[in-house]
Amino acid sequence: MTAQLIDGKAIAAQVREQVARQVEARRIEGKRIPGLAVILVGEDPASHVYVSNKHRACEQAGILSFRHALPADTTQEALERLIDELNADSRVDGILLQLPLPEHLDDRPILERILPHKDVDGFHPYNLGRLAQRQPMLRPCTPKGIMTLLQASGLKVRGLDATVVGASNIVGRPMALELMLAGCTTTVCHRFTRNLETHVRRAELLVVAVGKPGLVKGEWVREGAIVIDVGINREQDGRLVGDVEFAPAAERAGWITPVPGGVGPMTVASLLENTLGAAEQHDAMAPAAADR
Ligand code: NAD
Repeated sequence: MTAQLIDGKAIAAQVREQVARQVEARRIEGKRIPGLAVILVGEDPASHVYVSNKHRACEQAGILSFRHALPADTTQEALERLIDELNADSRVDGILLQLPLPEHLDDRPILERILPHKDVDGFHPYNLGRLAQRQPMLRPCTPKGIMTLLQASGLKVRGLDATVVGASNIVGRPMALELMLAGCTTTVCHRFTRNLETHVRRAELLVVAVGKPGLVKGEWVREGAIVIDVGINREQDGRLVGDVEFAPAAERAGWITPVPGGVGPMTVASLLENTLGAAEQHDAMAPAAADR
């Protein structure tokens, strides 16, 4: 392997420690402890694991977490009422709705009901719109975490030819916006892209977020490229792999993220940063507005 590994686990640990220090500083100054409300509907086992991880991360950073575990048959109206309560609760700086929701619920109106300044997942159209207009406020956690990885690794991205494979609302699209904001010339590929290989071969910076193991062949990777693999796929033998063929890609890339231990840990680290950022913004708002 010639590529340098981008150690997401270590960088995420640094970010989390930094957040913990800032939360402690707030406590010493007599400021409010930031609070995160996490809503989980139903019994999806993977979602339960993700939510537990988020609670543990909050606890370690000194952030209060409020867990709202609702039964699978919760109605749209009940969920909307809970969002309204949390929007009005001044102890709550961030509201996170764990996705996916059970089939009978529609996540869009719920996500849009969260006050934009409490939307620590950064999925509200207001926050995505601000990112699109180069005035980010709360930024989607996974793309934000990737920008932190690049920065912490000392990688300058301005002017690079970047290709993002995958165009979902939670990863690919906001990733493309982040990279444009950082000055990359950005191409976005998706399920209708005709010649994926051509776009991958051109990329000096490649971000892949699709959810198909081995979709990007190692031999397509440009010599010296920075390769960020967001994909998380479980093989039949239980191993986790990304969307990029790791070993051959690492022979050609300059830098590469492993799976696991690359992008994954950064998502929770960004969530803590966003929750702290939201709390700081709430301090700066008039109390009446913060409690609205
Ligand atoms: P998604 O299913 O919502 O979106 C997948 C995207 O890939 C779509 O835009 C689709 O058009 C595109 N696509 C599908 N087939 C393609 C092809 N053949 N060529 C090019 N593009 C193609 O998925 P998502 O929520 O964006 O997640 C993508 C992957 O990232 C999954 O493996 C998920 O588990 C992982 N993920 C990881 C983290 C993390 O913290 N590391 C966070 C979110 C998602």
